[in-house]
Amino acid sequence: MTHELKIFIKQLQTDHQEKIDLTVSPDFFELSESELIMEAPVSVKGEIYVTDHHLILHLDAKTRAKIPCAICNNLTDLSLEAQIYESLPLSEIEDSLFDYSSFVKEELLLQIPLFAECESNCPERSNLKAFLKKEEPKKSAPHENTHFPFSDL
Ligand SMILES: [Zn+2]
Repeated sequence: MTHELKIFIKQLQTDHQEKIDLTVSPDFFELSESELIMEAPVSVKGEIYVTDHHLILHLDAKTRAKIPCAICNNLTDLSLEAQIYESLPLSEIEDSLFDYSSFVKEELLLQIPLFAECESNCPERSNLKAFLKKEEPKKSAPHENTHFPFSDL
């Protein structure tokens, strides 16, 4: 599957800079994990330019991912945002059509937390708390009603 996160180096050496403002399919993540689902479009904005010897990527990428909630295991939707700032020696770039999707992919994947909780507050968290409470040893009830403020009236 082709995607649009590619740039012609020769063209860039003539124009020096290209503004990027794209929304692309997340297919380039090529994930087959059930624990991580990336199906939202990926927006990539910024600029790519060349200096005398380097190709510079200066991009902001945004997308959404789904990972299982650490408590109830339902898939939870996360917003991901990453900044890509890369400087690559032109001498090391062999292809005339440079594919920068791997940089976008890597930076976005780095934003995924190890643990997620649905809507930042899992509805099952209270069940979990109740369960944990039951496990605690029973405290003796505090004697609160031994003082009668109106007993003098
Ligand atoms: Zn949950």
